[in-house]
Amino acid sequence: MTIYNPELVWIDGSFVAKKSITVEQGVITGIGNGDGSDKGAFLPGFVNTHSHAFQRGLRGRGELFPSGSDSFWGWREEMYKLVSELSVGQFRKLCVQSFLEMRQAGITTVGEFHYFHHDRDADFAMDQVVLDAANEAGIRIVILHAFYNKGGFDLALNAGQSRFETNSLASWWSQVDKLRTSVDGSMQQVGTVAHSVRAVGIETIKEIASGSMHRGMPMHIHVEEQRQEMESCLKAHGVTPMALLNDAIEVSPLVTAVHCTHTAAADMEQWLSAGGNVCLCPLTEANLADGICDVHRIVKQCGCVSLGSDSNARISMLEEMRWMEYAQRLVREERGVCVDSEGEMASYLIDAATKNGARCLGIPAGVIEVGKLADFTVIDMEHPQLKGVTPKTLGAAICCGADNAAISRTIIAGA
Ligand SMILES: [Zn+2]
Repeated sequence: MTIYNPELVWIDGSFVAKKSITVEQGVITGIGNGDGSDKGAFLPGFVNTHSHAFQRGLRGRGELFPSGSDSFWGWREEMYKLVSELSVGQFRKLCVQSFLEMRQAGITTVGEFHYFHHDRDADFAMDQVVLDAANEAGIRIVILHAFYNKGGFDLALNAGQSRFETNSLASWWSQVDKLRTSVDGSMQQVGTVAHSVRAVGIETIKEIASGSMHRGMPMHIHVEEQRQEMESCLKAHGVTPMALLNDAIEVSPLVTAVHCTHTAAADMEQWLSAGGNVCLCPLTEANLADGICDVHRIVKQCGCVSLGSDSNARISMLEEMRWMEYAQRLVREERGVCVDSEGEMASYLIDAATKNGARCLGIPAGVIEVGKLADFTVIDMEHPQLKGVTPKTLGAAICCGADNAAISRTIIAGA
């Protein structure tokens, strides 16, 4: 049993003093009166809902534009080049590097949207490598195992995509089920992915969704990150990707749509009404020139929005939080878009980085209360970046004025 006595603890949307947290076997078993003797302010551990850890290898690459400006699709070619180059050992190194940087950024759980499955043949060698890398970095992981078998709506896979290929639903499910029984359930869990409506046929997506629901697993899918996907889907199906999904699958709090950059209002309303989640990746969406999701609409509907570091070009949950609100301010010329029912920005952004992520990944975390996983992000209140703030202003000060340097440590499963 461990008892923490933080100076401040984030409970019910604000920092409170003089609380203790009792932890047994990695789970919070009590919250009582404390003496504040443990330095720092405890937040629930940040949950990074959407990552492709190996893309850390692209940092600094793909940022030269000798023949003029470029788009997401040019970046994707650079990514495929990296994929073709990586050995198992290099892939593992990149994953460990990403996961260690995530811990420095206060992230205690990563949802690894994993589609880079194979070594040089279709062997799923990289699946275990990702799990081992997470173990080495000491981060909690939900491996979101991707189905991927098309190069576009009516296209076969191209050479750059061969290491992602899943041949049949039956062999893919057998790999997913094998992972489910082999992972260490206390630190590692398994969810599913249909990569996107362009990389997986809608009939297959239906089967993935119902199989995931049946097994009680979270399911994630990239949705409407780029206009080209919308246009191709309209051509192939006569509707947008989100409308196609709304119609085809049973949307629930276990289902997460990643990006939704260009999603139409009515489609989003239907998705959220059915309990579906949205994950935004503001730094990656900016880097890839995707566009800006209309978060305002999601806020008004009290939808569940989480955050992901996606391409890992920069790993900072605090920056993801800040840019979720700042992008809305820039595009709407209005301050205070991402706010809770009391008008509080900090509690809205912290929820996105913690409990909403936990919901998307199907884990009992993201809130400091009895029965939840004992994962904490500890803020260094003596850091110069936070000089002069009070318990009342600390949340917003972290969101607007701090970076990873103000995070002194992460505690995962109570340790
Ligand atoms: Zn992604």
